[in-house]
Amino acid sequence: MNLSENIEHVKERIERAAEKSKRNPKEIMLIAVSKTQSAEKIIKARDLGLEVFGENKVQEILSKYDEVKNVRWHMIGHLQRNKVKYIIDKVEMIHSLDSIELAQEINKRAEKIGKIMPVLIQINIGREDSKSGIYEEELEEFIEKLIDFKNILISGIMTIPPKSDNELEARMYFKKMRIIFENLKDYKYDNFDIKYLSMGMTADFEIAIEEGANIVRVGTGIFGERKY
Ligand SMILES: *Cc1c(COP(=O)(O)O)cnc(C)c1O
Repeated sequence: MNLSENIEHVKERIERAAEKSKRNPKEIMLIAVSKTQSAEKIIKARDLGLEVFGENKVQEILSKYDEVKNVRWHMIGHLQRNKVKYIIDKVEMIHSLDSIELAQEINKRAEKIGKIMPVLIQINIGREDSKSGIYEEELEEFIEKLIDFKNILISGIMTIPPKSDNELEARMYFKKMRIIFENLKDYKYDNFDIKYLSMGMTADFEIAIEEGANIVRVGTGIFGERKY
């Protein structure tokens, strides 16, 4: 595989999808999902122009952080409370807020270092037991419990929809997310600034963009198939 060609190809796909839905491609943030990839490879991707990298394990961020300079890290995977302290100063955004206990811990650790941490609420849109995230109908109650956390900024929502070869089904989940996203904008709390809809991976990011995603998380499309 050729990293440079892959990146160009993904960027073209993003541009085409944005144009198709009459949106500005510049408004769509590409997160290069670098889980299992070496620091060297990430540095190559950075030097080819990628700026934002996503990891789903705290340990992987820590092991690459010192070596890979001048990039922005996003935590996109399930986050255990006892590991928040290791990444609180290292990541630009946490996409996987899925419990009040986690919010409390992120808030506490962010306060300690004088930071406001942008977070996305993870929604389990396909209601799968195997996935983290909260259910749609829990959202309102969840939100009410977040309003006192002054050191987190609720910035939007994220989802990993069920795997599906069916475009219509994928689109349906993305449409549901879009509605939740638009409704969330009505909450005018001080620690709410709803801007980001994080959805779409290698297999489906065009559909996600057409349905309103402004953050896509692409791993395989950039780095090739993961070995493990
Ligand atoms: C691995 C992963 C991705 C990227 O998946 P690809 O299919 O390789 O593009 C996106 N989001 C999350 C949360 C992931 O864990």
